[in-house]
Order: sequence, then structure tokens, then C-alpha cells
Amino acid sequence: MQRLQGIAVSPGVAIGEALVMGNEGFRIPRRFVARDAVDDELRRLDAAFEASIQQVERNRDAVSLELGREYGSIFEAHLQMLRDARLRSELDQHIRERHYSPEYAVSRALRRYVKVFQSLDNSYMAERATDILDIEKRLLRNLLGRRREEISSLTSPVLVLAHNLTPSEVANLDRQFVRGFATERGGSGSHTAIVAQGLEIPAVVGVGPFLTDVSGGDLVIVDGDRGQVILQPDEETLARYQHDEEQHRTHELQLAALRDLPAITADGAQVELYGNIEFPHEVRHCLSRGAGGIGLYRTEFLYLGVEAPPDEEVHFQAYSNVLRAMGDRPVVIRTFDLGADKVPAQLALDEEEKNPFLGLRSTRLALRNLPIFRTQLRAILRASALGNVRVMFPLIATLLELRQAKMVLADVMEDLDERGEAFNRDIPVGMMVEVPSAVLMIEHFLEEVDFLSIGTNDLIQYTLAVDRSNKDVADLYSASDPAVIKLISMAIAAANRHEMPITLCGQMSANTTYTMLLLGLGLRQMSVAAAAIPEIKRLCRSVTIDQCREVADRALSLENARDVTSYLRQELKKVLPDLLD
Ligand code: PEP
Ligand code: MG
Repeated sequence: MQRLQGIAVSPGVAIGEALVMGNEGFRIPRRFVARDAVDDELRRLDAAFEASIQQVERNRDAVSLELGREYGSIFEAHLQMLRDARLRSELDQHIRERHYSPEYAVSRALRRYVKVFQSLDNSYMAERATDILDIEKRLLRNLLGRRREEISSLTSPVLVLAHNLTPSEVANLDRQFVRGFATERGGSGSHTAIVAQGLEIPAVVGVGPFLTDVSGGDLVIVDGDRGQVILQPDEETLARYQHDEEQHRTHELQLAALRDLPAITADGAQVELYGNIEFPHEVRHCLSRGAGGIGLYRTEFLYLGVEAPPDEEVHFQAYSNVLRAMGDRPVVIRTFDLGADKVPAQLALDEEEKNPFLGLRSTRLALRNLPIFRTQLRAILRASALGNVRVMFPLIATLLELRQAKMVLADVMEDLDERGEAFNRDIPVGMMVEVPSAVLMIEHFLEEVDFLSIGTNDLIQYTLAVDRSNKDVADLYSASDPAVIKLISMAIAAANRHEMPITLCGQMSANTTYTMLLLGLGLRQMSVAAAAIPEIKRLCRSVTIDQCREVADRALSLENARDVTSYLRQELKKVLPDLLD
């Protein structure tokens, strides 16, 4: 058994067979073979080796012909390995004595070699590790043949283990069969993490190199609560996790009883709890958790994974579906926040860009791609005739930017007038407060919008100069940092002074560690991943505003993130100790 520590980004526990992506990209269907099938399986292995050798020889000959013999000899190392008697006898032994399937035996043995090569302090040897992974891939392809099960066409449950996954790769995971995932890279504030939460897939990121320690088909646990990945768990660990899973389900059922109760503090202050969504189908999760509306609809996924930008009808259909489900509850549609880690094929963004989070992203990008921006705004406005729609601009850094975005909106209203289309002319217009400049200029912004929403995921990264998706600086990325809390406090105070509605829709508001602090700072609206709503509601109902103000005052006086976190957790423990178990 091997226990690895990463960053917990999407809660829940998943237990199942590994599908190692990237290196082999398809799953190993079974790990063990029946005793009487051993001879047949050995013959299958023979055939796969034979086919692999022939393929590599063909490649060598073709390359030699084209480029000369010295290039063709690159393949000699592969051939040498495929003909290595020691490797064959090791595999035969695994199949005969341990009854491993040939696929599993190949993957296990070759990954052990890879690990040895990678551990040598020698870049030439480390390069050879790639050759071995190549051989693994070829042998598996030949073994599995047509029976190969690709990630896009799974037929049974797996846990996906990968070097890295983009937000759109996570969005495309088959929810029916992918029970959880873990990645070597990634940080806690990444959009990959956010999509996993939205889809309610347990996930751990930033584990560091571990893919050579695991083979497809191995039993794995992804613990999205503690941020751990457990490879080949022993029986005791497995039993404990199975028991935890059971308890988790019981707790969920208890929380479900809160669904129709108001989020009201013990001294009667009303708190609005909204849901964040990335896909229309997530409204189901929000409604079942008793969300009072959608506080953030991230619309970027309409653009990702498709060749052409979505047309007005595609937008309109998506928004209509959400509105139909939400009835007269408010739905905040955020205009596209593309760029950075969400790059659609249709927008020719500079792939060499070294600082995409500081480059052409979000509303800046929209203002330079007006036809695409206008299409989305037309659809949002048309949808406003169907329900309680609010429109919100992301990543606003300057007043000029906000004014330009509003001008485009006014312009699009004229288009719709000309077309004779119905829309809400008084649609509430809001902006995200997620760049420090927006907080510093908040008094001016307040005069130009109808509502504000604090995006702490970005506010943290832009305040502290810490990339939200980089595991190497993940320990510095913290909502507890006094500078971040000060900025949040300034934004909430200014909004409250002007009786301007203000929500917090970053991940901070889904974390119970911060609920008392935020209430104490005067926040009364939070928008969170649906799964977090019941627990936040339970906490709101267990505290008084006076108690929260004291917590906020004390937290504001502390000097570093670590002290803030431990103080907030200590206070939380006094109220709901089970939340910290
Ligand atoms: C945020 O930055 O906090 C936010 C909610 O927006 P996103 O995570 O989509 O950048
Ligand atoms: Mg943001």
C-alpha cells in the first residue's frame, strides 16, 4: 500500500480500479486470470510480443530508408527490450504464478523499470524511461486489440489518474463511469478543481509524480476530503474507507432534511445561499440542495470542446433550460471568462503567452472579439424575458473596461429592439470583484452597477501573486491571508454602506472555515458549489451575528494566514466540532 498526499479539491471518496491516462490512455480490463486460462494467456502474450517486434522493425526500416540507418537505429533499443529474455521470463512468471492478466503483468513490470530509470541521476537514462512507456503502450495495444476500452467509451467504473487534466477534459469525463480522479499537477483554485466540484466527482490534484507507481487495473482510493491517493490499499484501510463511505451517505441524508429550511442565523439574520454552475444540468444539484438561485453561471463551457463559437440559439437554449428549472429564482449569467486555463480552439490566442492569467482573458478578450461577445449578450437579453436573469461581467479591472462592456450591452439592446425581440430593459448588471484594483476603486464602481460578486479564486491569486493552478505555490494560495481578508472586508463594507447587493462566489464561501468570518464582515449572500449548501446552511443556523463579528474582528487583527486559519478553525470547533473531524 502507498499513501500519497495531494491537494483536496472536490470532496467525497471513490474506490475502484485505476485508469492511467496519458501513458497508456486505455484501461486494463482485468487483473487476474483463471488457473485453467494461463496457457492461453501466455500464447496471447507471445502473439503481442511478436506483433510488436514486427511493427517496430517496420518502423525502423521505413525510417532508415527515408533518413538513413543511423536514424533507424533509434528503434534498436526498443527491439532489444522486446527480445529481452529476462523480461519475458518475469512476465511469464507473473502470469503463471500470480495469475496476472498479461496486460496487468506488462504494465506492472515495465512501470517498475521506468521507475528505476527515472530514479537514476542521469538525463540520458531518464529519457530512456519514455522509451519503456512507449513499449508498454505498444504491447498493451496489441494485447487488447479491438477490446481496447478508451476513456471516451468506458463500460465499467474507473478512477482516472493523470499527469494533468484541463477543465474541459474533466467536463468531458463520463460521469457514469468515472468515479474520481487524481492528478500529478494542478492547484486548489484551478478551474479543473471547480468543474470537479460542480460534477461532484471526488478529486485530488497536485500529488506530484506518482504515475509510474501505479498500473491500470490497480485498486486505488481517491480521498477528496483529505487530499490523499492510496495505491493498492490493504484490507484494513479498504474496510475503513468503505465504512466512511457509509457514514458519509448517512450524513448526507441528515443534511437533506435542511433543504427547505431557511438559512437564517440563530439571531434571525437572513442569509441567501445560491449555487454555482458550469453546465445547465447542474441546476438539478442546486435545487435538490435548496439553492435560492444561481449566483454564478460560468458560461465558458459553451465554447470549449467545440470547433465554432456557439451561435445565439445554442446560448439561448442553455440559458432557457436553466431558467425553466429555476422558476422565478434569480440566475446570474456571467459573460464568458475565457483565456488563461480555458482556451477555446476558435479564439486565436497566443500559445506562447507566458502569463495567460495576466494576458488576454475574460472581459478584455470579449471586448476584442465583439461579434462573439454580442452574440452572447443577445442571447442573455432574450433569456431575460423568460425569468429573473442578471448579467455579470468577469475580471473587471478598470472603470473604462466596465463602461465599454455596458456600452456593448446597450448597443445589443438596440439590435434586439430593431428585431422586435422581447427582453428586460432593466436587467440588473453586475461585475465580479476579483482584481485588487476593483476593490481599491469600489466607490466608483458602485455607482455604475446593480450588484457585485467577489471572486476570491482570482482575488487571492492577483493579490498575492500566486498562480491559482500551480501546485508548487499552493501553500501560499490562501483565503486566510490578511491582505485578502482586508480586501474582502473593504468590498463588503463599501457595498453595505450603499445598500448594494454583494455576493461572494469564490470557493472561499463554500469552505465552512470561513463562514463565521464572512458573516461577521457583513456578507449575507454566498454562492457555492451545490454540494456545499447544506453544510453552510447548518452552520449559519448555528451562530449569531454578534458571535461572528467578534470572530471577524479578531481575524482582522492577525498577521499571517496560518494564524488566521488556526483561529477560524478553533472557533468553528466550538460551534460544530464534527465539521473538523
Ligand atoms: C473567482 O475568481 O472566485 C470566480 C468565482 O471565478 P472563476 O473561478 O471562474 O475564475
Ligand atoms: Mg474568477
